[in-house]
Amino acid sequence: MAETIFSKIIRGELPCHKVYEGDLVLAFLDIHPIAPGHTLVIPKEPAATLDELSEASAAALGKVLPKLCRAVKQATGIEAYNILQNNGSAAHQAVFHVHFHIIPKPDSDRGLGVGWPSAPLAAQDADRWRQAIISAIA
Ligand code: AMP
Repeated sequence: MAETIFSKIIRGELPCHKVYEGDLVLAFLDIHPIAPGHTLVIPKEPAATLDELSEASAAALGKVLPKLCRAVKQATGIEAYNILQNNGSAAHQAVFHVHFHIIPKPDSDRGLGVGWPSAPLAAQDADRWRQAIISAIA
């Protein structure tokens, strides 16, 4: 189980700018926002990455995320936003406790910048990856 700065926030040992708390989920302002209203939504369960999270916590997060997105939109007056959820240090995760970023996107210069080095999906790759992922679904 991950013991992180977010564990301390959940236990009330460190302060946060709380915007929502439920039985399984907590949301608070990011301490280093990349846009006004940048909010973090976390499960209270101390899972490091999303693939380690229980179905109960995942369901609770999924239920509350749209409501919190609506609140951030209304509070900031910004229509566009990104949900960012990093898993693993190679994927820019710094705090090893599952968290969803709600990041308002005021305009093309501010908020989250996304690199998207895509290429067309080759037919043989599609078949291979489709089969591999289907076989791996537990
Ligand atoms: P990530 O790179 O997805 O792991 O992002 C971790 C986020 O947690 C960063 O955006 C940090 O600014 C944020 N963060 C770290 N410590 C705190 C804290 N004590 N309160 C609020 N946000 C925090």
